[in-house]
Amino acid sequence: MKKIIPFFSAMLAASSLWAADNTAVPSKPNILFILSDDHAWQAVSAYGESRHLIQTPNIDRLANEGMRFDRCLVNNALCGPSRASFITGTYSHINGFYNNGNCRFDGSQITFPKLLQKAGYQTAVIGKWHLETDPTGFDYWNILYGQGIYYNPPLNCNGQKTIHPGYVTDIITGLSLDWLKQRDPSKPFMLLCWQKAPHREWEPALRDLDFDHDRTYPLPDSLFDDYSGRGLAEHDQNMTIAETMRMNEDCKLAAPPDLSPEQKKIWDAYYVPRNEAFLKKNLTGRTLTEWKYNRYLHDYLACVKGVDDNVGRILKYLDDTGLATNTIVVYSSDQGFFLGEHGWFDKRWIFQESARTPLLIRWPGTVHPGSTNCALVSNTDLAETFLQAAGQPIPERMQGRSLVPLLQGTPPADWRTALYYHYYEFEAYLPSGHKNWASHHVRPHYGIITDRYTLAHFYAPDVDYWELFDREKDPGEMRSVFGNASYANVQTKLLQEVVRLRKELEEPGKDDPKALGRVTKK
Ligand code: CA
Repeated sequence: MKKIIPFFSAMLAASSLWAADNTAVPSKPNILFILSDDHAWQAVSAYGESRHLIQTPNIDRLANEGMRFDRCLVNNALCGPSRASFITGTYSHINGFYNNGNCRFDGSQITFPKLLQKAGYQTAVIGKWHLETDPTGFDYWNILYGQGIYYNPPLNCNGQKTIHPGYVTDIITGLSLDWLKQRDPSKPFMLLCWQKAPHREWEPALRDLDFDHDRTYPLPDSLFDDYSGRGLAEHDQNMTIAETMRMNEDCKLAAPPDLSPEQKKIWDAYYVPRNEAFLKKNLTGRTLTEWKYNRYLHDYLACVKGVDDNVGRILKYLDDTGLATNTIVVYSSDQGFFLGEHGWFDKRWIFQESARTPLLIRWPGTVHPGSTNCALVSNTDLAETFLQAAGQPIPERMQGRSLVPLLQGTPPADWRTALYYHYYEFEAYLPSGHKNWASHHVRPHYGIITDRYTLAHFYAPDVDYWELFDREKDPGEMRSVFGNASYANVQTKLLQEVVRLRKELEEPGKDDPKALGRVTKK
């Protein structure tokens, strides 16, 4: 499957990382991994998206003081599957977590938290877990139930249910800081601070409701995409702002049920007059879609602001305690998100807004501050990165590659030039009782992404076609050039690369839709 990095070379690499540091005794770095949920790279100001949607000064600090990865991709753009890949360093067909509909994570498999725990790290996961089974490999876990809720959420702490008054992002951060304060300072720590925000239904902290002063947001060029030049899957999805987005829950014409009476007063003071003004206008067609887009971005970006402010709280704690110098801080999201591109919200697709995710890593003494990296990296790479940083051997089962050489500024010459992707979740393949209403009718597909091209095969249940996008000429992925004579050579090479990667990654399925039967067995 992949080569094993010998233990001694990992140790050498780890100790050389500290050559620039004056600490006398090389020590295992602490690891703090902040993961948000559905945080689009377009909504991280360090990535400089053209709409300038929001300023995220605290997250940007990690770019300014560390490395910004500009081509970080996930292999299956969905919450649970991506988390399983982060934890195990493997693809869905290896770790068994294909979809959010009926999969349960097998906690007996190898994960990086387990290996770090064994290596003497204190380990904890706090926040959104969403893998359906209890976490394993952690000294402490305190997680939301399922998706969790934004206001006054109950959390499951090592099996004990406690309701926490307040806003979920503040609560997860507070619990993370509490855990850091009570840990044994003689041991290194590995903390997963995994936020729920800005996941649907995008419910902001009440203090942030007026954060954008009723800004009108620039529209993406493809908000009214008609999907011409692409196949049935794009035409027949169910994830548009215009049609799919619900007026009450998503667009806040109704208040969420979890607010306390005091909280609801604040919520109403913001939303009710704006909703009344909206209803009086009787908007239809494009103007209604534009209103929904603006309401969506207001709510989504307010949630992002809550995440950014809380990243600031954590970074301040690391500064104040002196921990910052020996702590690797990672900020990422479990996948990207459509912010109106193609008329969509949500994720799932192999396309850039969805498969690409933010990744920022600060590692004082190792990463040159303010550096950027364009290598194709992935959520499967983080497990091996943490293990190598901690001087631990890397299990052969893992399918990513350690980012440590990239972080050191010495990228290997044989770094990957294509990343394999496979999305599975589709209502028809989920057993009754497990229908995920929010699957958005996105047909299963696999493919590869290179620095310039995206190649995808939509293969089930009622489709069988390929698409090829030249992102240099068509950055929005609006026009498939598959079968176009001028791309014949490129197409042949990319098709060969898909076959090679499927073999290398031990993909068991043929293109036969029956292969998806594996998805429903759990
Ligand atoms: Ca997610």
